[in-house]
Amino acid sequence: MAQVKLHNINKIYDNGFHAVHDVCLDIKDGEFMVLVGPSGCAKSTTLRMVAGLESISAGDLTIGDKLCNDVPPKDRGIAMVFQNYALYPHMTARENLSFGLETANKPKEEIEKRVAEAAELLEITELLDRKPGQMSGGQCQRVALGRAMVRKPEVFLFDEPLSNLDAKLRVSMRMRISRLHQQLKDSGRPATMIYVTHDQIEAMTMGDRVCILNKGAVMQVDTPMNVYHRP
Ligand code: ADP
Ligand code: ADP
Repeated sequence: MAQVKLHNINKIYDNGFHAVHDVCLDIKDGEFMVLVGPSGCAKSTTLRMVAGLESISAGDLTIGDKLCNDVPPKDRGIAMVFQNYALYPHMTARENLSFGLETANKPKEEIEKRVAEAAELLEITELLDRKPGQMSGGQCQRVALGRAMVRKPEVFLFDEPLSNLDAKLRVSMRMRISRLHQQLKDSGRPATMIYVTHDQIEAMTMGDRVCILNKGAVMQVDTPMNVYHRP
C-alpha cells in the first residue's frame, strides 16, 4: 500500500522565501495525480519534498503508513524521473538501468530479468549498449523511465519529464507512461504516480486527478473532467 499524504506541508527556503503554504493532499494507492500550474508555483519543490531531495519545513508526509519527513530518499519506496533524464553519461543504457539494483545488492539474474523486461516494454532492447551521448532525447527519456521501472517502486515521481522532447515524442511518451500505469494496475501491483507539469494537455489526459497549484498553495483537486470541462 502506498498512498501518499501531504498534511499541512510548508517549505521555507534558507533565504526566507515561503514557497509552499499548508499543502494538504491525499493521493490514493495506485492513483495517478498530476500537479499542474504555472512556472514558479512550487510544483517541483512539492515533488522534491515527497522525494526527500528537499527538506520539509513544517507538516507531515506519509508514504504508505510511514511518516517519511526524515526518511532518506532511498528508503521511501520512490523512483523519480527528471526533465533532464539525469542518466550517467559514461555508462551504457544497460549499465544505467542496472546500477541502482547493483548498489542495492540484488542478485545478478534478478537484475538481468528486470532490465530485459523494462527494455522490452519500453522498446529499448536495441539501445542497451549505447551511451546517452549516442541516443536521442526520446531514447534517453525511455531509458530514464526504465531506470525508475526496474526498481519496482511503489511510487513514481515525474518532474516535467517530457518538456525537453518535441511535440510528437511528447504524445508517444505520454501514452507510454499512462500505459505503464495501467499495466502495473492490471498486473496486481499498482504504482502510485505523481506527475508534475505546466502542460494542461498532459494534466487533462494523464491524471486520475489533477491538483492545481498557485503560488505554493492548492487551488483545486479534482478529476480532469471536473477541472477542465465543467460547463
Ligand atoms: P515550479 O516547479 O512550479 O516551477 P519551483 O518549485 O521550482 O516551481 O519553485 C517555486 C518557488 O520557489 C519559485 O519562486 C522559486 O524561485 C523558489 N525556489 C526554488 N528553489 C529555491 C531555492 N533553493 N531557494 C529559494 N527559492 C527557491
Ligand atoms: P526547474 O525546471 O527544476 O524548476 P529551475 O531552473 O527552476 O528548474 O531550478 C533549478 C535549480 O535551482 C533547482 O534545484 C532549484 O531548487 C534552484 N532554484 C530555483 N529557483 C531558485 C531561487 N530563487 N534561489 C535559489 N535556487 C533556486
